[in-house]
Amino acid sequence: MDNFLPPKYCDVGNNNSFRLAVGLRLGAEIVVPHCCPCGSQVDSLGSHGLSCRRSAGRLSRHASLNDVIRRALASVGVPATLEPPGLARDDGKRPDGITLIPWQMGRPLIWDATCVDTLAPSHLASTSRKAGEAAAAAEALKRRKYACLLQNHIFAAFAVETLGPWSGDALNFFRVLKRRLRETSGDPRAGSFLGQRIGIAIQRGNVASLMGTLPQGTDLGDLSH
Ligand SMILES: [Zn+2]
Repeated sequence: MDNFLPPKYCDVGNNNSFRLAVGLRLGAEIVVPHCCPCGSQVDSLGSHGLSCRRSAGRLSRHASLNDVIRRALASVGVPATLEPPGLARDDGKRPDGITLIPWQMGRPLIWDATCVDTLAPSHLASTSRKAGEAAAAAEALKRRKYACLLQNHIFAAFAVETLGPWSGDALNFFRVLKRRLRETSGDPRAGSFLGQRIGIAIQRGNVASLMGTLPQGTDLGDLSH
């Protein structure tokens, strides 16, 4: 169970990273307005980076989320592999991971993780009306995308948002996984540690996305308040 010791909060990065993650989450003015390398203007809230088409944090956040899920499954005795080659759809797309033994009802689990931006212009109309709408839409998209695999697998669309909400699938999967973590470890906090790791992966990705909007060679100290 060494994978599920309490996460180190300082591990979110250096002081600036922590400060920026909190500022983004609170909607505070955290950066001097500047031009993103993609050509868009970044305002003082810095949220453009979260949905920038060149978002620097997207890949690392995606990899971190999948690694956290894979390691949590391993901790409950369910080995899993990422990017399973035998499950590609006709277009070559494949889910992020699969358990190598059954997860529920004699069927293996496949999952696909995504983190969508709550504040993206394309999501703002729905997320400002109801929390979690961007994650719910992403989940529906994933379910359609992998419809051909649903018959023989348990599927979890692990869709979360940059500002916190999780999709129904993500919450359901998390509830089962944290119960198993508690049972396996005997530690009632094991599920909470998993939730914290996922939250930290999202926040680190947010900071990396904001940092990606800075002109190359810029010292963060020049632009942060
Ligand atoms: Zn940009």
